[in-house]
Amino acid sequence: MTINLSNNYQALGTSFSEQTFPAPVAAPSLLLWNETLAKTLTIPFSQKDDAELIAQYFSGNQLIEGSKPVSQAYSGHQFGNFNPHLGDGRAHLLGDIADTEGQRWDIQLKGSGVSSFSRQGDGRCALGPALREYMMSEAMFALGVPTTRCLAVVTTGENVYRERPYDGAVVTRVATSHIRVGTFQYFSARNDTDSLKKLTNYAINRHFPELLVEQKVATTSSPDDETMADDISSEQVLKFFSAVLSKQVPLVLSWLRVGFIHGVMNTDNTTISGETIDYGPCAMMNAYDLDTVFSSIDRNGRYAFGKQIGIIQWNMTRLAETLLPLVASDEDDAVAKIEPLLAQFHQDIQQGYLTMMAAKIGIDEPEQGDAQLINDLLAIMQKQKLDYTQTFTALTKALNKSEIEQPLADMLNEWLPRWHARIEPFKAAAHSLMVSTNPVVIPRNHHVEALLASCQENGDLTALDKFLAVLRQPYTEITDTKHYQDAPVDGDNSYHTYCGT
Ligand code: AMP
Ligand code: MG
Repeated sequence: MTINLSNNYQALGTSFSEQTFPAPVAAPSLLLWNETLAKTLTIPFSQKDDAELIAQYFSGNQLIEGSKPVSQAYSGHQFGNFNPHLGDGRAHLLGDIADTEGQRWDIQLKGSGVSSFSRQGDGRCALGPALREYMMSEAMFALGVPTTRCLAVVTTGENVYRERPYDGAVVTRVATSHIRVGTFQYFSARNDTDSLKKLTNYAINRHFPELLVEQKVATTSSPDDETMADDISSEQVLKFFSAVLSKQVPLVLSWLRVGFIHGVMNTDNTTISGETIDYGPCAMMNAYDLDTVFSSIDRNGRYAFGKQIGIIQWNMTRLAETLLPLVASDEDDAVAKIEPLLAQFHQDIQQGYLTMMAAKIGIDEPEQGDAQLINDLLAIMQKQKLDYTQTFTALTKALNKSEIEQPLADMLNEWLPRWHARIEPFKAAAHSLMVSTNPVVIPRNHHVEALLASCQENGDLTALDKFLAVLRQPYTEITDTKHYQDAPVDGDNSYHTYCGT
């Protein structure tokens, strides 16, 4: 029984990561094992038969054969301020593995000890945040949101000290890569153009191999353009940037579709693969309000629900800046070449937003006037503090013969006839589009927190399993769904999430 790890990122060299070994923990014990994900990754272990071995491997106490653990270097803009010295302060990349389809995934331990990037941190992770990451990423995956995944949560038998002692845990995170906007910024800040080229080539190989095929065709037809192994043509860099941009559109739009607030969209928490990463201070919106913020440190609402499109554009502009020296030696020339891509991105995400919102009310191809229809609904929702998920669920059901209940029907009394008139010609298609666009259940903050508290108190995972079973089918009402559809009584008015847990 082997895990076929490769060390492709490690092979880039010591300026990209430092060799660091996970710090052993006192008493590793397997709490959660993502059996389905393990199968996809061809990892031949089951919780029933291999719990002890899994706990050894995924706490970092025992090294998987062939693994060369490293902590990755990166920088990042945190709340708009550039910090050149970030990097994995509590994470170890063990290696990468191909899934059954040939897609490569990074296997990373988080909470596995310090590295030279730790600064004052202890390199550890408390059980609560580890469980939260597992729960939220599973829910997001089922919602159809691009996301990093969790393979395992192992408790360490050690305490982690925050404002008080908590049980410690190591969570295994799986991502198509952990390359962030901040990884590019790390080399840019050091004027290390060679490493930037190497990183770009690596990222293309890893995420956009279709660009390599195009490049080969291009070089065969004009041999003068041939590029050296670690060199990269300007054209290729622009194609790469476009490809990264195209991954961010479905990412952020699906957050907006399901009411997800990332909470800490720093450039070090923005992957170039367009996967949701870092579930620290994230939360779900209840009542529709663009200004919704739950993160205790986001005092100015920089990362509020309705700011996320603007922020991803800001982050992508920071990525563009790092690529300028690869695009042209003259900065003005480089800017002139890269700016149209950012303008296109702006257009794509705005258009995508309209299409996504239109789908939420059953319209496949938005026409003139639909933006107004959507905005009028959202204005009512904001004014009446209507629950985002529940309202779209009620509208979906309204197309399937069930009446809209009071007081919602009254609040929407002017809007409903306009909507019905618009979708009348394609009502059945509108209904199925709404069913697949609007989740009936999301991982609501009050349920997530209640489950975390009970798991930590009594170690009993029965309630968590029940919750996960519902969250894994977020577009279908199963027997238990109704237990988790309720909005919080106080509207989550006093709910706060925290970073760096
Ligand atoms: P995050 O807020 O999780 O995105 O982390 C920001 C930075 O702080 C990253 O460089 C992390 O590796 C580092 N960090 C967060 N928590 C810890 C910790 N407990 N020990 C060491 N480094 C940490
Ligand atoms: Mg982070």
